[in-house]
Amino acid sequence: MLATSLPLPTSFTLSSLQTCKKTKTTPVHCSSPPPPQSPMDPQPKRVAVCGGGVIGVCTAYFLAKKGASVTLIEKSSVACAASGKSGGFLALDWCDGGPLASLARASFNLHRSLAEEFNGAESYGYRPLTTLSLTVTESEKQSPPSRDKNLPSWVDGPARGLRAIGSTETTAQVHPQMFTKTLLSTAVEKYGVEVVIGKVDSVGVEGGRVESVVLEGGRVIESDSVVLALGPWSGKFEMLSSLFRVYGLKAHSIVLEPKEPDAITPHALFLSYYPEQGGKPMDPVYLCGMSSEVELPEDPEQIAGDPESLEVLKRVASTVSSHLGEGEARLKAEQACFLPCTDDSVPVIGEIPGVKGCYVATGHNCWGILNGPATGAAMAELIVDGQATVVDLARFSPARFVGRRRKG
Ligand SMILES: Cc1cc2nc3c(=O)[nH]c(=O)nc-3n(C[C@H](O)[C@H](O)[C@H](O)COP(=O)(O)OP(=O)(O)OC[C@H]3O[C@@H](n4cnc5c(N)ncnc54)[C@H](O)[C@@H]3O)c2cc1C
Repeated sequence: MLATSLPLPTSFTLSSLQTCKKTKTTPVHCSSPPPPQSPMDPQPKRVAVCGGGVIGVCTAYFLAKKGASVTLIEKSSVACAASGKSGGFLALDWCDGGPLASLARASFNLHRSLAEEFNGAESYGYRPLTTLSLTVTESEKQSPPSRDKNLPSWVDGPARGLRAIGSTETTAQVHPQMFTKTLLSTAVEKYGVEVVIGKVDSVGVEGGRVESVVLEGGRVIESDSVVLALGPWSGKFEMLSSLFRVYGLKAHSIVLEPKEPDAITPHALFLSYYPEQGGKPMDPVYLCGMSSEVELPEDPEQIAGDPESLEVLKRVASTVSSHLGEGEARLKAEQACFLPCTDDSVPVIGEIPGVKGCYVATGHNCWGILNGPATGAAMAELIVDGQATVVDLARFSPARFVGRRRKG
């Protein structure tokens, strides 16, 4: 995304750019009255949520709001991985026609109500956007095609083929790390969530039922339910990897702060970018770059960007807008992180077959920031009430992998 100083994702999988249809939005309000404990069960349910990315934090927030006693366990720091480095782009209807449609719609609307509740515009940069699709040909930089008068004024590079693919009703953006941290601090201050920094080593199971989480070093956290929201590191957790594959797709991003931030209007640009030296066009670029399947490091803080990929992003930015060129914009961050992906490109959300009380929420690929709130709200309902109403989770159940156990 070519836009102010919010983080820019380097890479969007092609599947994320789908035909956009304009639709009316209906705000979704999630079950708010705390704690619906049954008179037979006066003790709040103890839930350990493992992983402090957007998925774990949203789950912890909605669980605690429903009255559960929640411990969030993060091995490094909250939103240190993809959830802190993504583009934070949100779309109501870009997943329509696919398995994510209802999740994305519910989540887009939940983002809107959360932004109202938390003054998201100020606390985490929530803003509706107009989203445009463009073709940019680097070799036309010296003699650009005649300028489309509908282009935002700051897009002064060789752009053609302008098309609106999202409106302020259907597309928006958050600062992903600030969003995640805002939700967590509310969960801590208002609903008593406890945050533990430690690496989850294993889940204690007795008689087919979860009873604890065991951390590296031996600390045991007793729990009635456990949620594994470990992002791409889910693939390193035997309990999950024995059932299905989760892998990490590396993606780069840069964050630019223009000298004149007011010159940049709230537009998101998705580009088909043709590099000067030929080669394959990059399509779509969301001030983006490339992804690659490389080894996932154990420690999220150790993920480093590949200099060449980051250079390409800077070149794209300066080609699209002189406001984003060297000297005109300060490079605030250049970074990389891993998208959590599954073999069928569908997130895995639900109870793990054969382990009562143990849940998983991962595999959100390039839409985890969008789909975090509805995932968290649905998980909270599933765990506390026994059934999710925010979104039907059947399509996302880990049970779909039973009998399809991958080899190796
Ligand atoms: C460049 C880029 C751009 C993106 N742009 C967008 C976008 O515009 N819109 C959108 O919706 N999505 C976007 N995404 C996707 C989105 O960022 C991810 O889908 C989402 O952040 C995944 O969240 P997560 O919580 O599942 O995983 P993560 O953010 O990876 O969090 C997992 C957490 O688990 C912790 N952990 C791992 N193992 C353990 C353990 N054993 N014990 C304790 N903790 C552990 C990790 O330290 C980490 O903090 C983008 C992603 C990238 C990479």
